[in-house]
Amino acid sequence: MLLVEDEPKVASFVSRGLKSESYAVDVVTDGVDAEHRARTEPYDVIVLDIVLPGKDGIEVLRSIRERGIKTPVLLLSARGRVQDRVSGLDAGADDYLTKPFSFEELLARVRALLRRQRGDLATLLKFEDLELDPARHRVTREQADVELTPKEFALLEYFMRNPERVLTRTMIAEHVWDHHFDTSTNVIDVYVKHLRDKIDKEHHTKLIQTVRGVGYRLSTKP
Ligand code: CA
Repeated sequence: MLLVEDEPKVASFVSRGLKSESYAVDVVTDGVDAEHRARTEPYDVIVLDIVLPGKDGIEVLRSIRERGIKTPVLLLSARGRVQDRVSGLDAGADDYLTKPFSFEELLARVRALLRRQRGDLATLLKFEDLELDPARHRVTREQADVELTPKEFALLEYFMRNPERVLTRTMIAEHVWDHHFDTSTNVIDVYVKHLRDKIDKEHHTKLIQTVRGVGYRLSTKP
């Protein structure tokens, strides 16, 4: 996701929290950079402060919506600025949060936007006998708990939101890692191996398939 916030304290508090919840987060601190990033990278959610240097959040939002970018946007507005929220919603924001906010509420709103964007109102993701609960951070296979690190969890969540679809290393890097990810390394293959050790190794039916030369797919079909 993209987090646009110029106050260093808020930016670092929110981005640390989101990363510990296994989201991949890019942080930018001014409106011009924000607009550029939002136009050039495929984010799943944008958290956008309104009062920003360079270009304010509402102008950024208006401009990306005019260009047809439909990424869900959660606006951060200052308390008492009713007009900001009204303009923001009119400019195409999907939701807003008033500062100061609790991190738990931000997370719940982000999850709701992700569900809405995917047209998927189910909170529990299922594939065969594998289940993943994004809100509780819990994974089970054949009803037995599987312990995953935050990155492994994020990787599996991306697979489970895209079953039967071939995911290239580039797609995985863009959705699970942040902007600074070095695609020349084999980090993704290493993480996929860890994930397989935890969810597939002990089971007869393997769920993560290698698509040679392309990437990976969550599937049981040959
Ligand atoms: Ca600000």
